[in-house]
Amino acid sequence: MNHDPREQALLTVDEQAIASNTEFLSGVAGKPLMAVIKADGFGHGLLTVAKTALGHGADSLGSTGLADPLRLRAAGVQAPILSWLNPVSANFEEAISHRIMLAVPSVEHLDAILRAATALGQSAVVHLQLDLGMHREGLDPEAFEDLLSRLCRDPRADQLRVVGLMGHLGWAEDSSDALNVRAREVFEQAWRQCEEAGLGIRFRHLGGTAAVLADSRNHYDFCRVGAGLVGIDPSGSHRLRPAITLTAPVLETRRVRAGEYIGYGRHHRTAKASNLALLPLGYADGIPRISSGLGQVRLAGKNRAITGLVNMDQIVVDTGEDRVLPGEVATIFGAGTDGEPTVADWATWCNTLPHEIITGIGPRVHRINRPTAVVR
Ligand SMILES: *Cc1c(COP(=O)(O)O)cnc(C)c1O
Repeated sequence: MNHDPREQALLTVDEQAIASNTEFLSGVAGKPLMAVIKADGFGHGLLTVAKTALGHGADSLGSTGLADPLRLRAAGVQAPILSWLNPVSANFEEAISHRIMLAVPSVEHLDAILRAATALGQSAVVHLQLDLGMHREGLDPEAFEDLLSRLCRDPRADQLRVVGLMGHLGWAEDSSDALNVRAREVFEQAWRQCEEAGLGIRFRHLGGTAAVLADSRNHYDFCRVGAGLVGIDPSGSHRLRPAITLTAPVLETRRVRAGEYIGYGRHHRTAKASNLALLPLGYADGIPRISSGLGQVRLAGKNRAITGLVNMDQIVVDTGEDRVLPGEVATIFGAGTDGEPTVADWATWCNTLPHEIITGIGPRVHRINRPTAVVR
């Protein structure tokens, strides 16, 4: 396949950055890491992130749903994998037969997983999932008690290996928020109940990247990190390395006089004569239309404003008095080391999170990896 950056938009994934982020987070946590690879490895490629993280300090993988875990198994990944956010009707038999660990967020899920394990004659490995106050997924304290008592009575329970107790914090960026304290109390109370019930759970795990970076009281027995692996740093401490670069080539250039409209509508009119460059990338490729009038790209040594509205497939960049040539390559975002905009800049312009920018890059953009092995 043609991967010439002078001809098409390219997303380049820097495996070295993912490797060094994994090592950094592993050092901060001082505990085993579960690499969370949901949403195609946060837009960086499921297998790329999984394999790089496993090679540099992570010892297990986690994802929402069963499609990604099954893809990982099909690709020969042998590491432990935990799946959460499944419907009660999910194919738990298939999951169990591929040694995929399952989160249990309700008694209905418990029942479905027990049925699957019994039908298969194979034990299911599960993590009990608590709602610690986000009111999203998981068992609230009352439902948790109910689940424990059912578990103790259910004759099929020996088909179950309960290895983990998981929770999630909704306020982890701010370690001083009292809701974190409350959440840990609920978490530890549930843990004591498990001990009393004789479940012998090995792993308590509470947090994602923000929880790990903000407060060591969130670390427990292992840490589930996703965003941090690909360089998103919710603590803003800049110790993590961004791992993707998005580029697009200039397709056409033109010079326009003062007072000319650019693109659809009358949104933008040139104040003075200017040079324009056309890039083949738009909102279908993950450049949010809301960035119109705010977004910039790096082209020919300077950051330049995108002018007019972001279109479905194209954007126009104002290069002022500088003439650029078709085939020159613009950087939409990168690590920021050469002065180019970063994903964090785009998130600011679009009034959103970096997570939404990196997971929003469309399927038309070709992806290539810069592997760890290459010496630069
Ligand atoms: C997404 C997710 C994570 C990873 O969180 P990051 O902030 O991306 O590190 C951890 N746990 C659960 C339950 C998640 O849904």
